[in-house]
Amino acid sequence: MNYTVEELIECKFDDSYLFDEELACHLADALSYLTKVDADKVLESAFFTRYRGDSWHLSQKQIRERSVIIIDEKDLNERNEAIVTILHEAGHSFLGHGNSGGYSLEDMNRTEDECWNQVRHWLPPEFHECIDKAERLGSGSKGTMAGRPCRPQAQQ
Ligand SMILES: [Zn+2]
Repeated sequence: MNYTVEELIECKFDDSYLFDEELACHLADALSYLTKVDADKVLESAFFTRYRGDSWHLSQKQIRERSVIIIDEKDLNERNEAIVTILHEAGHSFLGHGNSGGYSLEDMNRTEDECWNQVRHWLPPEFHECIDKAERLGSGSKGTMAGRPCRPQAQQ
């Protein structure tokens, strides 16, 4: 059983998501494809925010023990791409991956491949073309950015 988009927004998102309603909608859309158990685990393991907008403070209490996932605005323009991007980054925290910065090339390929497999497991076949495309543009063993950090443009 999955959560509906409405259940996620109304019951599962804490107050920190009230600041960015649009991102909350994309996140709920993406998490509605996961089982309740997996969606809960993602929300417990990560906090999502957007790479733009207002300045604001996230308290230590809100962030403790969670990954912070930063979604670039350009990745939210198209629905399928937004879902695939959100769930790829969610996959890293779901699977307990560390920061890509300190990884060897083998570790990088392994964690990227593991993460894409998780996204394929979560999403139905109509997303697989979008996943393949994102994987080709990424830093896993099948990607043109192979050996580069997951989100190189964020690491100036
Ligand atoms: Zn990645």
